[in-house]
Amino acid sequence: MAKVSNEKKPQMEPLEMKRDLYHMIINGERVTSESNETFTTYNPATGAPLAQVVKATTADAEKAVEAARNAFDFGKWRKYPVNKRARVLNKIAAIMRSRFNELVEVEVLNSGKSLSAAQGQVMQSIEDFEFYAGAIVGHRGTVNNVPGGFFNYTQNEPVGVCAQIIPWNYPMMMAAWKIAPAIAAGCSVVVKPASLTPITAIILTEICHEAGVPEGVVNIVPGPGALIGDYLVEHPKVDKVAFTGSTPTGKDIMAKASQTLKRLTLELGGKSPNIVFDDADIDAAVAGSLFGIFYNTGQSCEARSRLYVHEEIYDEFMEKFIEKTRQLTLGNPLDQGTHLGSIISRSQLEVIDGYVKSAIEEGATVVEGGHELTIEGFEDGFWYAPTIITNVTPNMKAVREEIFGPVVVVQTFTDEKAVVKEANDSEYGLGSAIWTKDQGRATRVAHQIQAGIVMVNCPFSAFPGTPFGGYKQSGFGRELCVETLDLYTEQKSVLSYYGNRPINPFGV
Ligand code: NAD
Repeated sequence: MAKVSNEKKPQMEPLEMKRDLYHMIINGERVTSESNETFTTYNPATGAPLAQVVKATTADAEKAVEAARNAFDFGKWRKYPVNKRARVLNKIAAIMRSRFNELVEVEVLNSGKSLSAAQGQVMQSIEDFEFYAGAIVGHRGTVNNVPGGFFNYTQNEPVGVCAQIIPWNYPMMMAAWKIAPAIAAGCSVVVKPASLTPITAIILTEICHEAGVPEGVVNIVPGPGALIGDYLVEHPKVDKVAFTGSTPTGKDIMAKASQTLKRLTLELGGKSPNIVFDDADIDAAVAGSLFGIFYNTGQSCEARSRLYVHEEIYDEFMEKFIEKTRQLTLGNPLDQGTHLGSIISRSQLEVIDGYVKSAIEEGATVVEGGHELTIEGFEDGFWYAPTIITNVTPNMKAVREEIFGPVVVVQTFTDEKAVVKEANDSEYGLGSAIWTKDQGRATRVAHQIQAGIVMVNCPFSAFPGTPFGGYKQSGFGRELCVETLDLYTEQKSVLSYYGNRPINPFGV
């Protein structure tokens, strides 16, 4: 492949966001695949086909890596003064803002999520670019103390070509979490979106070019994870893999990436505990617990899916929690009043239902939901009722494993130490929540919970600037924060001698 020309203007004409065919983008061009194949992407709320998407082959993935490599090794992006890169990131955000409603609509149509969820996620994606435009300017090296005659400083250099593999639950936001810090740092990326939801990540890649990101810096290759994702992970010219997805896939990627010692960020699954103490503001805890599990139809890695309620307040809490769950609206995802959209696919719906059935078989009680739903006008879509399960024990499958749907399992407790132990009794460690008015207890428990994120009297898990990532088998590395830039850079230490006397360590 020829070297990147410094002359070519990096611009991509904006197209209608809603269209029949979405291309791959390699080296700044919308392209079809080597095989000319496409795949269908669906609207999960209706089950109807939404558009065709070009399906990458490994030969296409190879071209994308070559383009990213060329852009990194010979291109201008990483050499731009940092404020110039920041300006482009701000421009990406500005274009996204100007097309906010269209972006939201496409996200809803491809994911089945509710309008309000998509609005929040697209807005956060915009803010991610703005955040990293600012953060990169302050991402400075250090000057370090060394004995007399020596001067040491460090500088942060982009890590290189990054494969960025993203899941279907937050299609645009996960793409933004990955692309923004990587290109802010001066890296080049090859994005592999989830096959179920590739559209908004493709549009985001187009917007990057429209805003002035040079060709080859952001490439996107939609296609099967086991083929294209795998190819990128094993590619010797890829320096880093940033992956968000399930824990089993994360383990596979870690093993394969180890062959070339790639830098690795893994954002994986979760089974987050939500602890409501007897002194909690019950209404706030009910509202927060409701949002904690049912936001994004429960398809959130940090969904607070294990609820622990103190025995003293259990009856009052549960009465309100069930009542509020019944008030949640499921329906047209494009209606502003809809709380929960659809499930992403028929197979995911079956996984969810399988967990509910397994809980029943193991002796649990479904007190709300627990079944598929038919929604008028959306009869062929994938809908599941918000579900509350009680009478569970810690070893049940539904209590231990990530369900990734609108299903919460509820247990009671009386003792602070015991509930912390139970909360920590999980292979995961992503999110957690505590509801109490006792600041001492909140701090004590927050410090003992083995999770990357603790929400104290708070329904939200993250904003641009707050670190997001897991302990244990929820992965490692933190996204969404200033420190993410460290994961897209290598720290170079420059040690120089300025003394007058020549140094002759061997003395020969
Ligand atoms: P998944 O692991 O099935 O797929 C994620 C991505 O990896 C997709 O793009 C897929 O095509 C690709 N992939 C699949 N097999 C691959 C392979 N062998 N090599 C390389 N890539 C491969 O996950 P999913 O079902 O799309 O997403 C749901 C999971 O993501 C849940 O477990 C959820 O908890 C997790 N998640 C985690 C976070 C976080 O920040 N920790 C955020 C969102 C989702």
